[in-house]
Amino acid sequence: MKRIYNFSAGPAILPLKVLEEAQSEMLDYQGTGMSVMEMSHRSKTYQQIIDDAEADLRKLVGIPSNYKVLFLQGGATLQFSMIPMNLMKNQSADYIISGHWAKKAAEEAEKYGKVNIIASSQDKMFSYIPDLKNLHISKDADYVHICDNNTIYGTKYYELPNTDGKPLVSDMSSSFLSEPIDIKKYGVIYAGAQKNVGPAGTVIVIIREDLIRKDLPSYTPIMMRYDIQAENQSMYNTPPTYGIYLCGKVFKWLLNLGGLEAIHKINVEKAKLIYDYLDGSSMFFGTVEKKSRSIMNVCFKSTSEQLDEKFIKEAKANGFDNLKGHRSVGGMRASIYNAMPVEGVKALVDFMKIFEHQNGGKA
Ligand SMILES: *Cc1c(COP(=O)(O)O)cnc(C)c1O
Repeated sequence: MKRIYNFSAGPAILPLKVLEEAQSEMLDYQGTGMSVMEMSHRSKTYQQIIDDAEADLRKLVGIPSNYKVLFLQGGATLQFSMIPMNLMKNQSADYIISGHWAKKAAEEAEKYGKVNIIASSQDKMFSYIPDLKNLHISKDADYVHICDNNTIYGTKYYELPNTDGKPLVSDMSSSFLSEPIDIKKYGVIYAGAQKNVGPAGTVIVIIREDLIRKDLPSYTPIMMRYDIQAENQSMYNTPPTYGIYLCGKVFKWLLNLGGLEAIHKINVEKAKLIYDYLDGSSMFFGTVEKKSRSIMNVCFKSTSEQLDEKFIKEAKANGFDNLKGHRSVGGMRASIYNAMPVEGVKALVDFMKIFEHQNGGKA
């Protein structure tokens, strides 16, 4: 067996230790004689798995008791709909458009009410986080929506907008658990698991209790009501049992590592390795504004498209896979989520140096 360095943006790399543990429990979970996949979600054993996952997540992030934690399905994309359906009481919301997913979220919300685009970075291909200084928060806005880390373009928020007291809703799909989070600053946080937390099929929602409404139109699909999901502790119907089990293992892995501050330190170190190299390279360069650089998704290009292609091909042959940038951006993207070891990033940078040298660069 040979594992490569997988720089996929998602579904993405998971901690080896977590996969090995899951493997060892695959056929017989703790003496039950069955796999977690084969187990009733109403069983005592499974209840313990989901309770532990929630308790560990609460401990890891420091989630106050007036926030609910939900493990749902439908990915981050279903949250694009659930948020306006559940939160748009005045049928109005403010959105900041910092990338592809932020835009998708706003487009979906438009079906349910008035969407005010209060800032955007579309003018420069989403290569920066919009200026947050002079935002005009709409008086009747039910919430302000941002996308914390722009997976496709490789930018990230380093400060939060002042929302004039309106609940801040954040899509953290590609940055959740990469750094400490001050939950109190948010009304809702959601994250599809398949980027930084677990396998595809689970989305984590953290929602302040006072935002969970009961007075929704009667035609609201029952699965899309936060009140129903919260009352039933994510088990109104069969939850994504195996995904939640693996997320739980990742939470434990992070706790053992020293928590979010510890992993953040490692993430900053990894990102610095690549960005420092890019800044000194005569062949490769980062594609976004320095002050908006993501520490999860590093987007870069070389001096020509042909060279990009050659690089991606040779990198793959050398055990560095999924480095091709999103089709809308081109170039390369190295996703260096929590589970990517420092050695993986070092090896990539070494490979880039060799490639640069062999192809006429000065490195
Ligand atoms: C991947 C991604 C999405 C879409 O996630 P799905 O789970 O496929 O719906 C949304 N937002 C961000 C920031 C993402 O990275």
